Amino acid sequence: MLTWKDIINFSVNGNPTPDRRVEKTEAEWKAQLTDEQYRITRQKGTERAHTGDLCTTYEEGKYHCVCCNTPLFDSTIKFSSGTGWPSFTQPIEENAIKYEKDTTYGMVRVEVMCNTCDAHLGHVFPDGPEPSGLRYCVNSESMILDKETA
Ligand SMILES: [Zn+2]
Repeated sequence: MLTWKDIINFSVNGNPTPDRRVEKTEAEWKAQLTDEQYRITRQKGTERAHTGDLCTTYEEGKYHCVCCNTPLFDSTIKFSSGTGWPSFTQPIEENAIKYEKDTTYGMVRVEVMCNTCDAHLGHVFPDGPEPSGLRYCVNSESMILDKETA
């Protein structure tokens, strides 16, 4: 199980190696995604709180990257954070997510991205529930819920 210490370690010393890589040009991503998906995943945007489709969904399934379809999170580790964005306590696999220090907007945060295609997902914070203490705060637009693989 990953803890905040692991997250800091990844963001400072380098990320785990993904199982595969998906790399496309900006034009290819633009053609594949909706405008909102493109803005969030490829240009590090944020959807408005409480607007995402997956925010209040607790159906069983796996949350896949909207860009490359890699499984990122599982419904069993989703929790209601009250923030207005889908929130998770762990990634589905330790190497599914990539971490980078983000100092924009005068804050020091840790950005989370898909480790396969570098899609921006959101941020991770050390104020989640026990035992991991992590809160992955992810945009709905960055993910698709696959109910069949539950
Ligand atoms: Zn991806």
